[in-house]
Amino acid sequence: MDMEFEKYKALLEAIMPVLEAHFSMQGEYVKCCIGCSHCCQKGYYPVTKAEAKLMRAGFQALPSSLREEISKKAGKIAAERDLFVKEGNDIIKFKYACPLLIEDKCSIYEYRPIICRTQGLIMQSAIDENSFNMPACVYTGLNYANVWDEKLNCFSEEKIKGLNLKEPPVALDFSYESLLEVCGINPDTLPDNLKDPDNSEIRMIFEWVTPETAQESVQEFFR
Ligand code: SF4
Ligand code: SF4
Repeated sequence: MDMEFEKYKALLEAIMPVLEAHFSMQGEYVKCCIGCSHCCQKGYYPVTKAEAKLMRAGFQALPSSLREEISKKAGKIAAERDLFVKEGNDIIKFKYACPLLIEDKCSIYEYRPIICRTQGLIMQSAIDENSFNMPACVYTGLNYANVWDEKLNCFSEEKIKGLNLKEPPVALDFSYESLLEVCGINPDTLPDNLKDPDNSEIRMIFEWVTPETAQESVQEFFR
C-alpha cells in the first residue's frame, strides 16, 4: 500500500469539512455554480506530488479519447511555457487555462487538487497575516462583488451595511500549520512529503498530464 497516498486521502477527508463549513458560512458572497469556470481559465495551478497521485487516478479513469484530448492541450501549454521562459520571463508569471477543464466543467472534479477546492474564497496572505488575497472573480462581478468597491479596491462599508448580512467577509487561513491544527492532525504522523508541502515536488497541473507523462501509470510515474 502507498502510505503517502493513503495519508494524503485521509488529510483531504479531514480538510474538506473545514472548507465546506467555510464556504457555507460565506454563502452570502459566493456565486460558485456548475458551469462557472473563470477560475480554471487563467492560473498557475501548483500541485504537489501527493495531490497529483489522486489527480492522476481521476485522469486515468477518464475515457481514452478524453485523456488524449487533455494531453494534447497539456502538450501545447508545455510548448507555450517553454517559449515564455525562453523569452526571459519569470516562470511564476506563466498563466494558462487548465487542460482538465472540459466544456466548462472539471473533468476530474472528485480528484481535483487542494488549490482548486479553495478557489473563490478570500485567502489570508501566507506572507503577511494582516493582509489577504481576494478571489480573481471578484473583478468579474462574482464572489464578494456584492461587498467590493472595485474603484477603491477594498470592501465597501456602504454595501456591507446595505445588505444586512449575517456573517462578515472572512479570509480563510489556509496555512498548512493552521489547517492541520484545525483538523486535529499531528504533523509528526505525516510522511515527509505531506509534513512540508512547500518542500515537496510541486509542478503546474498541466505538467502531470502532458503526452509524455500521461501514458505512465500512477505507480510508474512516481517510482
Ligand atoms: S483541475 Fe479542475 S478545478 Fe482544478 S483548475 Fe483544472 S478544471 Fe479547474
Ligand atoms: S470561484 Fe468564481 S469563477 Fe470559480 S466557480 Fe466560483 S464564482 Fe465561478
